[in-house]
Amino acid sequence: MYRLGIDLGGTKIECAVLEPNGRVLVRERVPTEAEKGVSHILGNIKKIIDKVTTCVPSPFSIGIGTPGSISMKTGLLRNSNTQCLNGQPLKELLEDELKQDVQVENDANCFALAEATYGAGRDYGVVLGVILGTGCGAGIVVDRKIHTGINKIAGEFGHHTVSFQNGRPCWCGSKGCVETYVSGSGIEAQYLRKTGNQDNAKNILSSSCEEAYNLKQEFYEVLGVSLGNVCNILDPEIIVMGGGLSNYDPLYAEVRKQMQKYTFSDTFNTAFVKNRLGDSSGVIGAAILPACL
Ligand SMILES: [Zn+2]
Repeated sequence: MYRLGIDLGGTKIECAVLEPNGRVLVRERVPTEAEKGVSHILGNIKKIIDKVTTCVPSPFSIGIGTPGSISMKTGLLRNSNTQCLNGQPLKELLEDELKQDVQVENDANCFALAEATYGAGRDYGVVLGVILGTGCGAGIVVDRKIHTGINKIAGEFGHHTVSFQNGRPCWCGSKGCVETYVSGSGIEAQYLRKTGNQDNAKNILSSSCEEAYNLKQEFYEVLGVSLGNVCNILDPEIIVMGGGLSNYDPLYAEVRKQMQKYTFSDTFNTAFVKNRLGDSSGVIGAAILPACL
């Protein structure tokens, strides 16, 4: 069966069709145009699917990756940065629009699934995929199946607390979440607070000024402690990094040292690597969702 995946981002919608052997047949992207509202986004998804499936034999499956997750309590999307979609029954709306079943999953879970199936984690059984971008998320894949957990929060790496008393406030309402220290937005916000200057996280991590240096050391340490915490609980065979900050190469050696320090073991055989599928991972993970949930 051909498999169609959609990566529903805040600024672009990406679509790919995989052949039965996993090869990408076609890939397209269109702007999300989230400011025009929910119906417009659904229409854009329908249009891109119609465009890429002209030569695809039916039936084909559809999987969709999105920031946020579908609440188990209400069935409505929550915590998406495409804010007009929050509070919407996204799965039902998509199924009405597309006239077929769709699987909807968190985008970090899709990233982890793609890397565990076709990317850096393909030879490993327990894979943690971490996205360090504007925000911070993760997904857990065991034997090529997403582990979502009983509350559907497995892999919510960005919102576990590393400093509960004096931690930085997080948009989620908690304090000291990992995301406020290691994500692009967290680093940029703290740099602005400390220096009064605005800059992007990549520049800040590469800068030699004292405040930037201190933030970089904190980035290494918090990421190392938090991944060490995950190792103590999940003990993944491999941690695959994605998102814009995963391209900052010095992090691999520096964070590995910290992680090892905070892991409760006298061995540390966990592989810690950059992703292999680049920005295709989201859409590939979405495409293979229906077979892997
Ligand atoms: Zn938080």
